[in-house]
Amino acid sequence: MAKLESLTFDNGFARLREAYYSRVCPTPVPDPYLVCYSPEALALLDLDASEMTRPELIETLAGNQLLPGMDAIAALYAGHQFGQYVSQLGDGRAILLGEVRNAAGEGWEVQLKGAGRTPYSRGGDGRAVLRSSIREFLCSEAMHALGIPTTRALAIVGSDRPVYREDEETAALVTRLAPSFVRFGSFEVFYYRNQIEPLKQLADYVIARYYPELAARAEPYAELLREVARRTAELMAHWQAVGFSHGVMNTDNMSILGLTLDYGPFGFLDAFDPGFICNHSDSGGRYAFDRQPDVAAWNVTKLAQALVPLMSVETASQAISEYPQVFGKAYLERMAAKFGLPACSETATQHPQGAGRGCKDTEVSTTTLVTDALQLLAQNHVDYTIFMRRLCDFDSATEAANSPLRDLFIDRTAFDAWAMRYAATLRQQGSVDAERSRAMRAVNPKYILRNHLAEIAIRRAADDRDYSEVNRLHALLTRPFDEQPEYEAYAAEPPDWARKIEVSCSS
Ligand code: AMP
Ligand code: MG
Repeated sequence: MAKLESLTFDNGFARLREAYYSRVCPTPVPDPYLVCYSPEALALLDLDASEMTRPELIETLAGNQLLPGMDAIAALYAGHQFGQYVSQLGDGRAILLGEVRNAAGEGWEVQLKGAGRTPYSRGGDGRAVLRSSIREFLCSEAMHALGIPTTRALAIVGSDRPVYREDEETAALVTRLAPSFVRFGSFEVFYYRNQIEPLKQLADYVIARYYPELAARAEPYAELLREVARRTAELMAHWQAVGFSHGVMNTDNMSILGLTLDYGPFGFLDAFDPGFICNHSDSGGRYAFDRQPDVAAWNVTKLAQALVPLMSVETASQAISEYPQVFGKAYLERMAAKFGLPACSETATQHPQGAGRGCKDTEVSTTTLVTDALQLLAQNHVDYTIFMRRLCDFDSATEAANSPLRDLFIDRTAFDAWAMRYAATLRQQGSVDAERSRAMRAVNPKYILRNHLAEIAIRRAADDRDYSEVNRLHALLTRPFDEQPEYEAYAAEPPDWARKIEVSCSS
């Protein structure tokens, strides 16, 4: 583990032409202080945890000084926001400080969110507030622990410099880490300006740095598009399976690496509700929970359109054509694992009617059980995470042993009918309860970042400068699949007051 002074910077993005960004220094804030940090994220930079106590690091994470080797820039991008093309967005409040190359050879871009105005700030103040910074920090690290691709969060620093939203709030900066923050919108901006050369060079840069195996292919740009479409579909399968709603799936928030990017008004499902809209500002429900896979597919078509100058229209549409199958397969696999059911029959080849047939039968049986369960959950307003976790203890032999699960339902008769079919399927497949339970516990989290948990941590931090709850939640959520019985209350359904929490784009 290293000291700040020994960080090695690479700054690949900053070495590109200035067409892609503007050089801009963060605007200092007075008297910054550390709110929280992620030891795991710190380790990605090979930094020793003791470095976190050094004023030089806090000043850097506050945007008050740069370390030797840093090259600060704000990236240019555009994007489709709620379906409409917006020609100039860009990092309005995020500043990329540089890229650290760690001992393992990984490049991690270090970005401050809330570091002051940039040429892309439009009417904004370039700042972030403590409230939204805590949400982004906790959720980034929680998603990583859930095994979901995401940008990471290194730390939050606060400053008493006031920031004005609906009310006066505390300013904060989140340090984010990612191999790259390039978005679909980073390509769209050049397509709509009809600047083909910078478009091509950006694609070359992304391929060389992040998809080097595609460089030697006959159609590297088409392969890039195919791979991004595939990763996006996989990401959607993750989100749908865990019950995560992003809230603002504009193309400027879609990562070229298939990472969860830009945490704003996100939310996890409490009671299962397919039409759940987490963003208070999304009155039309464009980004409702169950629309996410289709919206992401639409976003992928916008990326394809932006890349069409580098290939034929047919090639581009062919490259993204696998999205529905990739999503369908990944989603089925995730849901099957969550329910302890096979996604496809392993004994398919021994099936009397041939390989394909056995697989199809298993798929239909699993899909039907999953779909029917989700419908029951929705009808009975059952908490999704709690149901899935209790299902890990399902007893396939003794019906009465399943009462904790059954008690979650209003319509117990309907639950009983489903449970009978589920038990029969498990028995038929020779599923062993104890083994299945162990496997299911590794894919059904007990702890997720529920809005009310974040809200409690935020209130303590904002009102009392007490960051203990942020730290507790962070530690808890880095082990979401572990029982952690001392934190049982954090796995419970939200209290009644939580219904009043509204999250919107204002952050
Ligand atoms: P978001 O909804 O956070 O993805 O942001 C959309 C666009 O608005 C991006 O270009 C942001 O950089 C910009 N933006 C959001 N908040 C601010 C702010 N407080 N100051 C300047 N730009 C902002
Ligand atoms: Mg954004």
